[in-house]
Amino acid sequence: MFMVSIDVDKCEGCGACVDPCPASLLELVDGKAQVAGDAADCMGCETCVEVCPTGAATVQEV
Ligand code: SF4
Ligand code: SF4
Repeated sequence: MFMVSIDVDKCEGCGACVDPCPASLLELVDGKAQVAGDAADCMGCETCVEVCPTGAATVQEV
């Protein structure tokens, strides 16, 4: 199982991670990306990691 997390200190709110997520897990709230659903629904595709310019999005296998 995979879990995504967003480091709010690194997130610049560019929104690049929101639309590409196949699980629709990410949304922008007050200029920061947030996990909108159950973080455990993450598929581990690492698309958010690849598109994030600041390294704020990380995915762990748990
Ligand atoms: S790793 Fe993939 S499924 Fe998981 S949050 Fe990132 S884009 Fe979405
Ligand atoms: S791509 Fe990175 S910097 Fe941009 S909103 Fe997502 S987590 Fe934040």
